[in-house]
Amino acid sequence: MNKKKIVVIGGGPAGMMAAITAGGNCRDLVLLEKNRSLGRKLLLTGNTRCNLTNSRGLNSFLRQYSKNGAFLRDAFKHFFNRDLIRFFEKRGLKCEIDREHRVFPKNNKAENVLEVLKNELLKNKVSLLYNSSVQNILLQKKQVVGIKLKNGKVISTDIVILAPGGMSYPATGSTGDGFRVARKLGHTISPIKPGLVPLIAKEKYPLVLKGLSLRGVKVNIFCGNHKKVSKEGDIMFTSRGISGPVILSLSGAVSEFLDKNNPVKITIDQFPDITKEKFIFSLTKLLSDNASKTVKNTLRKLLPHRLSDLFLEMHHIDKNKRSNRITKQERLLLAAVCKTFTLNISSCAKMAEAMITRGGISVKEIDPRTMASRLVKGLYFAGEIIDIDGDSGGYNLQEAFSTGYLAGLSASQK
Ligand SMILES: Cc1cc2nc3c(=O)[nH]c(=O)nc-3n(C[C@H](O)[C@H](O)[C@H](O)COP(=O)(O)OP(=O)(O)OC[C@H]3O[C@@H](n4cnc5c(N)ncnc54)[C@H](O)[C@@H]3O)c2cc1C
Repeated sequence: MNKKKIVVIGGGPAGMMAAITAGGNCRDLVLLEKNRSLGRKLLLTGNTRCNLTNSRGLNSFLRQYSKNGAFLRDAFKHFFNRDLIRFFEKRGLKCEIDREHRVFPKNNKAENVLEVLKNELLKNKVSLLYNSSVQNILLQKKQVVGIKLKNGKVISTDIVILAPGGMSYPATGSTGDGFRVARKLGHTISPIKPGLVPLIAKEKYPLVLKGLSLRGVKVNIFCGNHKKVSKEGDIMFTSRGISGPVILSLSGAVSEFLDKNNPVKITIDQFPDITKEKFIFSLTKLLSDNASKTVKNTLRKLLPHRLSDLFLEMHHIDKNKRSNRITKQERLLLAAVCKTFTLNISSCAKMAEAMITRGGISVKEIDPRTMASRLVKGLYFAGEIIDIDGDSGGYNLQEAFSTGYLAGLSASQK
């Protein structure tokens, strides 16, 4: 048995899994967390339902990362989605897969995911030190010899697993400390940006639509006049713009276009299954079938009322006009806005609203077979601190658990 001491920095999913895996294999294992409790971000995941992972196969799974997905191949060989599900089910937390292949605990409670992890930490005799914010990792001749806390306390160790998350949702504890610590050790940090974020529109209309969700719409992203990406799914209007799973997922592409100073607009097609011509035909029929009703009431059969009222207002159509008094030109305008409701995007929301951090420790400086630093002996990385970002759908937590597992395994076998 290895007699070394291991210090894990960060009590999120990556750090907890690293400590659980390494636990039992070393004399002394300490998990340092700057907050008073573990897994604050984990408790918020999936709207507190915790989308643990996704049931896709390996190759398709790896394609859900914007870059560097291939780096995870080794980590997934050791601990992939089926292993994660088994891990929780073996400990009494049943999991369920939804239509979009997303995996959640059957009882939809992130708090129970955290409970399983905490029980395992206790079983593995991991010493938990709360209110312990790490300031520096101490080196001698490029070998880890200890860590220094912000309160000045020094803990000696020759192995550190650095898993302090990224910079998104900083109120949960991930405030970018890891990047500062790693940079001081000579590691390269790829540019840090918010990922999976809402978009902010130039128009003011989102305010009246705030909180309105639309299901199964098609969102097209235009850069200038060129359509660049399209995706179908659910969206939600916010006070300043637009959010929801499809928007979060497209936000990475939008951010790239905006960074290059390209004007970006999105169009929303609420009836993606039919052509514009067929839609015009259906709308004409609906209006004539409801000839004596007001256009406002007729349109409400087709669209949520806040949206139909807005569309009438946008095109200066009297909402109390009878449906059979709508002109051909007005009908075409209404059809156009239903099929291509447009918002010009001014920016992406900031880190405080981002679900993940894009950028991080360069993967070139981490050995994918072990998660060990290629620059510093005794240092391992796990979780969101690494320059990998996944789509929404469970890919980011799987990354955190898998890299945590591999870092814990490698560190304890060193
Ligand atoms: C609202 C929201 C919902 C999300 N939902 C999902 C989802 O359903 N599915 C999914 O796959 N992903 C989801 N994510 C992303 C996912 O939560 C993260 O990818 C994941 O938590 C990253 O794990 P981590 O352990 O690397 O970092 P974190 O979870 O951020 O944990 C890092 C820990 O390190 C601690 N720490 C930081 N600095 C120090 C320091 N100097 N000293 C000591 N401790 C420190 C922090 O306090 C924190 O507890 C969501 C994110 C958000 C914000």
